[in-house]
Amino acid sequence: MSKLIPITVANGDGIGPEIMAATLHILKEAGARLDIEHIEIGEKVYLRGNSAGIDPSSWESLRRTKVFLKAPITTPQGGGFKSLNVTTRKTLGLYANVRPCVSYHPFVRTKHHKMDLVIVRENEEDCYAGIEYRLSPNVMETLKLISRPGSEKIVRYAFEYALQHNRKKVTCFTKDNIMKMTDGLFHEVFDEVSAEYPGIVNEHWIVDIGAAKMADTPEAFDVIVMPNLYGDILSDVAAQIAGSVGLAGSSNIGEHCAMFEAIHGSAPRRAGQNLANPSGLLLGAVLMLIHIGQNDIAESVHNAWMRTLEDGVHTYDVFTEGMSKEKVGTKEFAEAVVRRIGQKPETLKAVDYTSAKRAGKAKPPTFVHAETKLDGIDVYVEWRSRMPNDLATAIGKADGDGLALQMISNRGQKVWPDGFPETFCTDSFRCRFVGPDATPKKVLDLQRRIVDLGLDICKTEYLRQFDGKPGYSLAQGQ
Ligand code: NAD
Repeated sequence: MSKLIPITVANGDGIGPEIMAATLHILKEAGARLDIEHIEIGEKVYLRGNSAGIDPSSWESLRRTKVFLKAPITTPQGGGFKSLNVTTRKTLGLYANVRPCVSYHPFVRTKHHKMDLVIVRENEEDCYAGIEYRLSPNVMETLKLISRPGSEKIVRYAFEYALQHNRKKVTCFTKDNIMKMTDGLFHEVFDEVSAEYPGIVNEHWIVDIGAAKMADTPEAFDVIVMPNLYGDILSDVAAQIAGSVGLAGSSNIGEHCAMFEAIHGSAPRRAGQNLANPSGLLLGAVLMLIHIGQNDIAESVHNAWMRTLEDGVHTYDVFTEGMSKEKVGTKEFAEAVVRRIGQKPETLKAVDYTSAKRAGKAKPPTFVHAETKLDGIDVYVEWRSRMPNDLATAIGKADGDGLALQMISNRGQKVWPDGFPETFCTDSFRCRFVGPDATPKKVLDLQRRIVDLGLDICKTEYLRQFDGKPGYSLAQGQ
């Protein structure tokens, strides 16, 4: 018998402990060779006063085992502690979130009988950097960060995944008609990397119409790669239209560690009632078994699970009168899967993981170098009267050293010079100063002059060229 593989397990919050117990029971009965270390993370740890939601000893376990099976965790909305899911993914460098969304027609009700797509979601960047500021009493800001190496890693992973799993097409979704620099970079990298994989079809869709097409005709897609936020939203949509968010598992893959989970959350309203569907976490565990090389167990668990669905043994979320045969709770569903270990589905296509492997190690991302030149600075100020012309008169007095006020915008829309009185203004304005011979010192002196005028600077952004191209966008209407 091969040796036990150490893994770290967290039971999570809400329905987490129930679906984890069901999953581990099935893995054990299927003969998974695991040496399990339990850690506690999430709500209980926060409430003990640890604002990170995870103890140092838990990090130590994760860095040692490098394999994490995690039940969902509750994250407060709007305020409170930061998402531990995001922290874990980013701290461990788990850049690729892979979410297969498959329909099980005619056993689970869905409008999409032939759906079998995989969403590869970028996991570390985008608005999930969690860098947010209050610019004025009335305006909040979040930073959306997209990097070239981050985009390259995820796009290459998507193509490597497609190669490994014999998928024919990789589609990219972005909103680069609006976010020309951030999503534009993601799209540009997609075009570059796709050229390295001539055997795989590639295409790009603007995310809004792409999402509509995916919700309507998911069989038109195979692998879809996208930045973090779109991937988060659209993988829930894809799982739900396949039958239930309770059915999809996911892997979070990094260079060193990997985490496996359900795509859904902790569903607190369903907690403690033996109601939840453990399938998402179980399928996450199947991905984990392949990752650690226990393909035989992965295959027998996955096939027994499909047979259970075929036999109409369903939890409440997928139960349909006339289609399902038996409505069961979490524990009973797990028992039903255990009883079918060794069996294969009769109608659905049985899985064969004999040769399944982790996606190949992609080549390391590139870092480009560029000559930079300073053009000026955007200075954000709070201006209570909300009148752009008054602000221009006031802040324009800071012109000097060859730097001059060029433009004022409000929420990205140019409002000075030649603004329209119809444009609604908040109390946070961006004032752009440029000059042909801008230097860091001149830009600092300018800020000092602005402060001396009694204005409130809330934030600054340097305006730089990279190899002769502006590294900043124009204002809307500029
Ligand atoms: P959710 O996915 O937890 O639940 C939404 C609804 O989907 C539930 O009310 C339930 O009707 C259904 N559902 C979800 N999982 C199910 C299952 N296994 N079986 C049956 N029905 C299921 O989404 P939410 O209510 O928006 O989030 C609840 C909490 O989970 C939040 O604190 C959120 O931050 C967190 N969350 C955690 C993760 C994670 O740990 N990876 C992911 C998403 C959300």
